[in-house]
Amino acid sequence: MLDELYQDLILDHYRRPRNYGPLAGADRRVERTNPLCGDRIAVEVKIEGGRLAACRFYGHGCSISQASASLMTEQVHGKSIDEARALVARFRELLSGEASAKAAADLGELAALRAVAQFPVRLKCALLAWNALEAALGGQDDAKGVAKSETGSVFSDPARGL
Ligand code: ZN
Repeated sequence: MLDELYQDLILDHYRRPRNYGPLAGADRRVERTNPLCGDRIAVEVKIEGGRLAACRFYGHGCSISQASASLMTEQVHGKSIDEARALVARFRELLSGEASAKAAADLGELAALRAVAQFPVRLKCALLAWNALEAALGGQDDAKGVAKSETGSVFSDPARGL
């Protein structure tokens, strides 16, 4: 069972996702889907001076996938590419169930997703946005060849209300 406090946090991010919607002037966009659950996410980043100057997401899916993306965008803001990559690794460790209590505590609100480790079928939901971010950090850009002003190529409507 998810801790009640953590469950509230996840539901809050699901209902009021932070940094939701296309990012104006994004450098890269990576889209990911999780067919098992029907989750779809696009992560957009703006990189300036080797740092994540901005990170936003949009899409739809289950509460775990959307809340994880929302929490991620808050946590990676302003981080260097290396720091963001390290955070992705630490988050994966958290979901593997192998993170120590201290390591979990150091992740702050992200620790709310630790309970997902008990539900292997939901791991893909929790990791969807993170895998997209990692690909974006690695240079992938699904928006290549598409005018940067056009967003949401795989989504019928990139705005809220899907
Ligand atoms: Zn899901």
